[in-house]
Amino acid sequence: MNKYYLNKRAQANGQHEVHKEGCLFFPSPEHALYLGVYTSCHEAVAEAKRKYNELSNGCYTCARECNEG
Ligand SMILES: [Zn+2]
Repeated sequence: MNKYYLNKRAQANGQHEVHKEGCLFFPSPEHALYLGVYTSCHEAVAEAKRKYNELSNGCYTCARECNEG
């Protein structure tokens, strides 16, 4: 189980990255929105899409299996 966070600030391509706690590219505290504890990034990204932004995407570094390019 890991804690997942959404970057409230969009990337240049408009996507909002979902990160695991401790990621090298974790957003600054004012941009990190806590999503919850999940067994996989798939659940975390699905939750981020449902609740916050359709364009949520797994971070390439900490949630690569959920990165949709
Ligand atoms: Zn990350």
